[in-house]
Amino acid sequence: MKTEKIRKTIEKYGNDQEHLMLILRELEHQSGKNVLDVATLEAVAGEMNLPESALAGFVDFYTMFKTKPRAKFVIRVCKSGPCHVMGSTTIFDAVTKHLGIGIGEGTKDGMFFLEKCECLGVCSVAPAMMVNYDLHGNLTPKRIKTILDSYRKKKPTAGENCGPEVEGKACVIDDKRQTKRLLEQVGVVDPLKIDSYIGKGGYSALKKALEKKPAEIIDIVKDSGLRGRGGAGFPAGMKWSFVTKGPMQKYVICNADEGEPGTFKDRILMEENPQLLVEGMAICGYAIDASMGYIYVRGEYRRSIERLQAAIDQARAKGMLGENIMGSGFSFDVFIKEGGGAYVCGEEMSLINSMEGVRGYPRFKPPFPGGAGFKNLPSNVNNVETLMSVPMIIEKGAEWYRSVGPTNCSGTKLYCLSGKLNRTGLVELPMGATLKEIIDVYGKGMKKGSKFKFAQVGGSAGGVLGKDLMSLPLDIDQPIKQGVTLGSGVVLVCDEQTCAVDFLLQILSFFEHESCGQCVPCRVGTVQLHHLAKKFASRTADPSDIDLMVQKAELMKKASLCALGQSPIMPITTILKYFRKEFEKHCDSGHKCAACDASLRRYYSSAATH
Ligand code: SF4
Repeated sequence: MKTEKIRKTIEKYGNDQEHLMLILRELEHQSGKNVLDVATLEAVAGEMNLPESALAGFVDFYTMFKTKPRAKFVIRVCKSGPCHVMGSTTIFDAVTKHLGIGIGEGTKDGMFFLEKCECLGVCSVAPAMMVNYDLHGNLTPKRIKTILDSYRKKKPTAGENCGPEVEGKACVIDDKRQTKRLLEQVGVVDPLKIDSYIGKGGYSALKKALEKKPAEIIDIVKDSGLRGRGGAGFPAGMKWSFVTKGPMQKYVICNADEGEPGTFKDRILMEENPQLLVEGMAICGYAIDASMGYIYVRGEYRRSIERLQAAIDQARAKGMLGENIMGSGFSFDVFIKEGGGAYVCGEEMSLINSMEGVRGYPRFKPPFPGGAGFKNLPSNVNNVETLMSVPMIIEKGAEWYRSVGPTNCSGTKLYCLSGKLNRTGLVELPMGATLKEIIDVYGKGMKKGSKFKFAQVGGSAGGVLGKDLMSLPLDIDQPIKQGVTLGSGVVLVCDEQTCAVDFLLQILSFFEHESCGQCVPCRVGTVQLHHLAKKFASRTADPSDIDLMVQKAELMKKASLCALGQSPIMPITTILKYFRKEFEKHCDSGHKCAACDASLRRYYSSAATH
């Protein structure tokens, strides 16, 4: 690529390392072959005065970048839990058959390149794939030919080929029995027009907040009992109160790196009501004395990024962001940062590293972000669902917020339904809904011809629940007592066709792929666990490998630096609790298992492993 072009792109974003992600993304797009070649990286390093090794390490860390030419259109077929359960191997087979390429290969005409990827965040319409940035859901082998041929015929722009099946509002379950708070305005407010949001009462909570003292806002949020909705469940108001006080710059950071397989709630919230997030961040900014906010969005979420950017621009134009908001003397602005396809960046310290333009390695804690976050300055990190809950708390009061949900986990929760149900999608219920209610009422029961086997709750980092736990309240505290976390609200329902061994294989392959490799227990442990799972899938394991798997995962839980390495124990022990016998059967070389055979054939051929 010409140096002049590179220079212009760097000028557009700024020479600071924190802009590296956007600069490289644009250069990759400009290449026309979805590639960042070595010459381009060397030139960027020179222009930005960075070591070449920093660029090489950065590009290698984020899976969305590649240094070898791919093709005009990169097809990324999801292999994560919900897509796997809904038949993603048949989609890989269909693409392979139609284009004559395997995973990690491109067509000779330079049009298509096939990759496997982890969750795309459209799990209610699984199986799904992305062609460049266009999402396609509800795939069937038959549809593959039609979709891919449309790319040959024309030059689609981002979003053009998104079927209505992956539109945010279409993924919300239409059922009046829900308790809609966060979803109340979805489908009512025009996400592209701030006037529509204001017309429905938008920004009145910010106005109200600005009339109070910052400490009062923190007290109201504390009193509401709002706990973080990203997975850890830490009380939000308390977190805000931990942000160091003083004259230094402080930041509000919204974690919108929704990468837990099976989760798509934040995507829908951002796409359908982006102003609510801007308002929630501004209130948080006022409460913690921050004048800048960042939304770190998954790189795959193009529509979210576009709509958020439009919302921020309009909010600035309307005086809801910027200097002296509503004449209050409070100034606050919001900017977007993009992720590059690394699950570990959902961890707050990894996310902050990624925002700074380096590899998204988790940092040792303490210090916590409240003391030393972005650029080592005090930062408050909350996820999208948490921050979007704030305006309603200010508007309607802490008591109103607490009026639903259990005492220790007040408010509503967004549950992401996927898998073998008659109805999948996003549903908002008082925190603590049961699996039975979710399946029977909102999922309209098991899909015709399917029989319940288990439900995965909390995604790959969660665990599975069997029939005996149908009445367990799915709040933040109860599932932990059963060795499961609610996490971000994933409810993936699996039927008897789902092989427990194959399911665990897919989870452990995910952890191996996503481990950042910074600490030994996780770097080595995830590889070993995946290897053991492959032994069961290929019917070459010994029964003693079952306990070996548990021992290794237990060691990882004790010795790993971040939640990723500490998590595999949960799916392993909960799956074994119910399906140990299936693992024992898979130790018999004569045991037949079509599901494991399909996974081994599709994902572990030599090209596919790259
Ligand atoms: Fe990286 Fe895993 Fe260690 Fe976390 S536990 S820092 S993901 S190697």
